[in-house]
Amino acid sequence: MFVAMSYLAVSISARTAEEAIDQISVAVANGAKMVELRTDFIEDLTSEKVGKLIAHIKGQYGKPFPIIVTCRDVSQGGAINYPVKMRIDILAGALRAGADFVDFEYNNFTVADNQERIKVALSDSVRGRLILSHHDFKNKFENIASLYRKILMFYPPAIPKIIYTADDINDCFDALDLLYNASEQCIVFAMGQAGLISRILAKKLGSVATFASLSDSQATAQGQITVEEFQNIYRSDTIDDKTQLYGIIADPVGHSMSPAVHNACFGDAGLNKLYLPLLVEGDYDDFEIFMNNVLRRSWLGFKGFSVTVPHKENALKYIKAKGGVVEALAEKIGAVNTIVVGPGNKLFGYNTDYAGAIEAIVNKVGGRDKLMNIDAAVIGAGGVSRAIVAGLVDAGAKVKIYNRTTRKAKKLAKQFGCEYASLSKVGGIKAELLINCTSVGMSPKADHSPVPIDVFRQPMVAFDTVYNPLETLFLTHAKACGAETIDGLEMFVNQAMMQFELFTSKKGNRQLMRDTVLAQLGK
Ligand code: NAP
Repeated sequence: MFVAMSYLAVSISARTAEEAIDQISVAVANGAKMVELRTDFIEDLTSEKVGKLIAHIKGQYGKPFPIIVTCRDVSQGGAINYPVKMRIDILAGALRAGADFVDFEYNNFTVADNQERIKVALSDSVRGRLILSHHDFKNKFENIASLYRKILMFYPPAIPKIIYTADDINDCFDALDLLYNASEQCIVFAMGQAGLISRILAKKLGSVATFASLSDSQATAQGQITVEEFQNIYRSDTIDDKTQLYGIIADPVGHSMSPAVHNACFGDAGLNKLYLPLLVEGDYDDFEIFMNNVLRRSWLGFKGFSVTVPHKENALKYIKAKGGVVEALAEKIGAVNTIVVGPGNKLFGYNTDYAGAIEAIVNKVGGRDKLMNIDAAVIGAGGVSRAIVAGLVDAGAKVKIYNRTTRKAKKLAKQFGCEYASLSKVGGIKAELLINCTSVGMSPKADHSPVPIDVFRQPMVAFDTVYNPLETLFLTHAKACGAETIDGLEMFVNQAMMQFELFTSKKGNRQLMRDTVLAQLGK
């Protein structure tokens, strides 16, 4: 790995110089540490315009703020079809005007006629470097390491920039391996949603730059995240080769609050740790391939994972297959939502979903002993219901499960020794504790409740595991009938606090977690 300054760059894709100046000021305000002027987006492009832009940036943001000037060929993703001779003039002019890097397509540079003026401009420039780039907008490269060597053999002073498209998270490992093994400076990552972790980890592994967009609508490549997200959620400035990694394994993962919550708390505690969204599609085999890929590369520094739908059962199976240790109740539930990677890659599995839910109930009823023999009605028979039923039965509660699909309620009830009924029979229940473990009432269908209003009464504790919206119709009805309530955020924060402690051996910041979720919900 070539350990050197790694910059968070924003690609500026403006049509005019004025628009570019505005975009640069927004990029810098949001945390960009480098800009790439995509001059192929500028209409009526001239070297003079580019020179003035470079002078403006250097005057405004100082010399240490590096600039890449690119005038991309349309065959490699360029915007306006400028002839190659003109594009070379733009790059040579940019070097003379003080650009730190110019980016030219490797394929075009191999043509003898295209080299001379760039080489002369480079030799006249004090610090200008040539980036030779090669993109694949559809697939991975057959052999990325040999492409890297080929570029360096062709022109040793170049910085190879190799960008391909990931179809699956496991495709990112080619880029990460190359960065780790590279002996010279380079820029490597994968595009596409599946390539996200390679963009973020490029910073940890010393890529000269990784690229972010100004906004979602101004992305210049698939899978770019905004510079604001890079800085605010992933704390880009703090990522270095020592950063330890964590992440949430899920499909889908984009909606997850966990990266925002855990990264905020890592920052708050001053820990050099980073939490990533890990989109692992498929079944156990795919889960296994991803985990093997990660654990085989101890240099990546993955130390723990949150796990959610659809991989909680896979996590349990994987840990057991690897000779790891699973806590007893997680094993009974059949699901692991937290993995800790110990010394020698020894794996430990936990289920903080049940523990977080039971803690929320215990706090409301005034002690775990109050759960002994309490009449509890659990609505739903899915994964969350399973965790909560296990926790309640463990605490001595008398549980009855109500579910739309009665056969699923029956199966769950049989495993934990409780009663069950169809959800249609929920009217007239006499439970002291009523818990919604279905997705009914979740945004955007917030005007639904899984039970009629007349099931609520006083005294009763009503708990909705749904946390978006924070006050569901279920909870509004419960309050109107005088019941005490627990919202889903309480459970979410409890389980996240427990995960944080398992990951760091430190207490998390409960208020910060709550505020972070509320801020995300407000978006
Ligand atoms: P799951 O395994 O897919 O189970 C979904 C449950 O909802 C099943 O019992 C299903 O009944 C029932 N259901 C779905 N649509 C229904 C409808 N229209 N009418 C009646 N019942 C319906 O999901 P899960 O993983 O258990 O998650 C359930 C909910 O828990 C999520 O939606 C989420 O809001 C919440 N949750 C909260 C937290 C937290 O920390 N607060 C964490 C995770 C999840 P059938 O069996 O009949 O299909």
